[in-house]
Amino acid sequence: MPLLREANITPKIDAVIWEEGYSSARLHAGGFDTTPFPALSTEPQPRVCGNMECAGGWTRPWRNRRRPVFDGLWGCSGRCILAMVRTALRREAGDGAESVPHRHRVPLGLLMLSQGWITRAHLQQALEAQRKNGSGRIGEWLVSECGVDPERVTRALAQQWSCPVLGMEGFSPETMALVMPTVFIEKFGLLPLRLAGSRILYLAFEDCRDASMALAVERVTGLKAESGILNESQFRAARTRLLQCDSVETKLEAAADADCLAGRITAILEQKQPIASRLVRVHQYYWLRLWLERGTTGRAGLLPVSREDMLDYVFTASPSI
Ligand SMILES: [Zn+2]
Repeated sequence: MPLLREANITPKIDAVIWEEGYSSARLHAGGFDTTPFPALSTEPQPRVCGNMECAGGWTRPWRNRRRPVFDGLWGCSGRCILAMVRTALRREAGDGAESVPHRHRVPLGLLMLSQGWITRAHLQQALEAQRKNGSGRIGEWLVSECGVDPERVTRALAQQWSCPVLGMEGFSPETMALVMPTVFIEKFGLLPLRLAGSRILYLAFEDCRDASMALAVERVTGLKAESGILNESQFRAARTRLLQCDSVETKLEAAADADCLAGRITAILEQKQPIASRLVRVHQYYWLRLWLERGTTGRAGLLPVSREDMLDYVFTASPSI
């Protein structure tokens, strides 16, 4: 069963497994090599209902077998879509922040001290300022209280999170605003920065890499996400520009429990009849992206080239889900 095998595997493998829901012709045609994810313009018509328990998919030849498509699989009826959504929610329930292994990291101040980038007096002064004010990151206090070069802080953060320092070249806020709902940019201290070629999406983080968020973006867009640190002033400037651009229309909803959420997502899929849709969990949110018509994606995976005919739903999950 394809859906049950998605967890904890790389996005590239995800793509192959999702493809298994389609006719095998596409795989034999070698389409996967040139188009890493189902490019909607060449997506074959799903023929078999994605619900393993379905009894009716083959017996209704008059049904539209092109939509709705959820997580790469066509659902033949509301009942089957509900079963598929429930399977996806069970899969995602084990995927949030909790599934990302916590690794101990050297505190930023100690890391900078060990590199000789700050003195012990600097660190004490910054820690004292942070304690007195009860807020602010240590890096910010090192810059504002001790006159430490902000670039040093950025380099130390990159070292702390084992990722590169990114630059602003190639940043296109209009395009990047379509990558994810703005609520994630506002909440999680990251922003999509640029595409490299047609397969790689650079995600810039302000002060710590969020593996859960990066994985969610990979699974929805079909692109390989490369994470890096952007210095604070550049990050803020880029975020401001990004948030001024139009994003994909996003509807925010709350979900009381898993049954309500499954019912709501099923109703959306039945009403909107998407030709593709993806559901991923990001921390306390479930992100459902719908592609409503052909031509809404570009060459780069499932990244939209236009905000038209796409919809994002972001559900806030209660702790019980
Ligand atoms: Zn069915």
